[in-house]
Amino acid sequence: MYTASCLCGGIHFKIHAEIPKIFICHCKQCQKAQGSAFAAIASIKTQDLEIVRGEELFKEYFATENKKRVFCKNCGSPIFSARLDLPDVVRLRVGIINESLAAKINSHAYTKYKAEWFEIFDDHEQFEEAYIA
Ligand SMILES: [Zn+2]
Ligand SMILES: [Zn+2]
Repeated sequence: MYTASCLCGGIHFKIHAEIPKIFICHCKQCQKAQGSAFAAIASIKTQDLEIVRGEELFKEYFATENKKRVFCKNCGSPIFSARLDLPDVVRLRVGIINESLAAKINSHAYTKYKAEWFEIFDDHEQFEEAYIA
């Protein structure tokens, strides 16, 4: 089990699952949403997330119709994204996990849109567009 929390600590939840893979999304929306070159993401089953506190701080933003991005409305930490047509899965932002992770980066998605100032130094699988599971 892992725990995760936002920067202000208002949102706190438990993750009742292993996190075997981390993938990096280089799409422009993730760059904007993180204020950085990419988002580091783990796919988690929605049912494995147990919100301990702070559900009232969840703020949703839809950059595209089908996908919500959830962040803390107090401190702005990105929490997860979720597609409306895939309600059983959330894409957790790995940086909010409190414990050390054994998993390493598994792949890179949307590399076609990668920030030109960021170089990928690892040799993990790359997808020019969406990650293909
Ligand atoms: Zn917060
Ligand atoms: Zn993205």
